[in-house]
Amino acid sequence: MADERFDAIVVGAGPAGAAAALTMASQGLKVAMIDRGEFPGAKNLFGGVLYRKQLEDIVPEFWKEAPLERVVVEQRLWVLGEDSAVTFGHRNERYKEPPNAWTGLRVKFDQWFAAKAEKAGALPIYETVVTDLIREDGRVVGVRTDREDGDLYANIVIVADGVNSLLGKALGVHREWDPSEVSLAVKEIIALPKEKIQDRFNLEGNEGCTIEFVGDMHGMAGLGFLYTNQDTLSLGVGVMVNELQKNKIKPYQLLDAIKQHPSIRRLIAGGEVKEYAGHLIPEGGFSSMPKLSGDGWMICGDAAQMVNAVHREGTNLAMTSGKLAGEAAVQAHAVGDYGAGTLKQYDQKVKASFIHPDLKKYRGLHGLMAGEDAAKLFGEFPQALNEAAYEMLLVDGVTKKEKQSQALHRLRDVAGGNMDLIKLGLKGWRAMNG
Ligand SMILES: Cc1cc2nc3c(=O)[nH]c(=O)nc-3n(C[C@H](O)[C@H](O)[C@H](O)COP(=O)(O)OP(=O)(O)OC[C@H]3O[C@@H](n4cnc5c(N)ncnc54)[C@H](O)[C@@H]3O)c2cc1C
Repeated sequence: MADERFDAIVVGAGPAGAAAALTMASQGLKVAMIDRGEFPGAKNLFGGVLYRKQLEDIVPEFWKEAPLERVVVEQRLWVLGEDSAVTFGHRNERYKEPPNAWTGLRVKFDQWFAAKAEKAGALPIYETVVTDLIREDGRVVGVRTDREDGDLYANIVIVADGVNSLLGKALGVHREWDPSEVSLAVKEIIALPKEKIQDRFNLEGNEGCTIEFVGDMHGMAGLGFLYTNQDTLSLGVGVMVNELQKNKIKPYQLLDAIKQHPSIRRLIAGGEVKEYAGHLIPEGGFSSMPKLSGDGWMICGDAAQMVNAVHREGTNLAMTSGKLAGEAAVQAHAVGDYGAGTLKQYDQKVKASFIHPDLKKYRGLHGLMAGEDAAKLFGEFPQALNEAAYEMLLVDGVTKKEKQSQALHRLRDVAGGNMDLIKLGLKGWRAMNG
């Protein structure tokens, strides 16, 4: 590999890296795309829902060829009590045409997406770990890999190495995340016959359904998910790392407990666990986003904390940021200037895209999830809501007015009083609105 020189090196062939490599290679740049996996996606994990809009901007009509599972027509949110659930959701035929989102499996999807970049001309270098950046006069000029003679040089290095971003740390834009800035998720893939999935989730043909759930996680700030694939289900839970440390609980214990919940148990009954894996999710949001570019480098996707946890969007932010970094590199290549001043246009492009305003909108959420109210919001409130719903719907001769008053009392007691309930409501509102 010695003495190889590229216009651009992309580190990481996940959604961000593949999007960047594809964008640059299809504009004629000489691109190397490096990943530590045996193939892209070999070890990557997500929930996962893939969205149309941002990928369509990169690969028009990709759904005609990409390995996707089911078209999401229904999204449900369950607030779990101990043995109960208050449920919300939305189903709409309009999500089919054009499709809004699909369920997917990264091991298939990432390979397909990276292959698009390879077809456009990017050179794949897999099973190779990038261990450091090479700098000259303060400017990034290449990468050091774990291969013999493994130094590679380029005018631009695009860092897309995911949540743990070794290179982000090397750049000094990425510190060791605080346990309150990342959640740890564990996921199982559970095989179940197609017909059973369709019957249990009320689906026809290729239709898919997603369920997200909160509550019944020892009061910890976290979220669970159950998604329908063709003939498997994706079941997982993610909890803030600081909460896991505080409560001395392992995420797989939570997953095992969730599998016993009556609302979940019957949906996965008879299924066979095919895979089990864990992964970190960046949750710091807007306030944890680092500087995005400098002399000879740009950083995108999870490595730059671009995850919208409220809407479980990450792949689309990764793809868009990769594409924007790729476009900035093409422009820099055209003028032959790879300095911070030129690459700053990438920061501006991110600011002008949906990424910046969407993350900004939820900038307060991290504080709420990591703060003192987390136990109330994620533990006591879900239980109180379930109790209130139970009593409201129970026909036992108690008057409806009395029931309503009891329900309000329950919620107020969790908050600590009327004023505290209002304050908590306001905090929640502010956290969700910039
Ligand atoms: C449990 C879970 C559920 C999720 N659910 C969803 C969902 O439903 N929808 C959604 O849109 N998003 C979801 N996300 C978020 C989404 O997975 C990420 O936002 C997205 O994968 C980020 O893409 P990326 O390319 O930035 O990073 P990654 O996908 O992490 O890719 C990084 C790549 O870099 C490679 N790499 C890392 N370090 C090195 C190195 N030193 N040298 C060489 N290669 C390296 C890795 O092998 C990997 O291929 C979920 C995440 C998790 C963990």
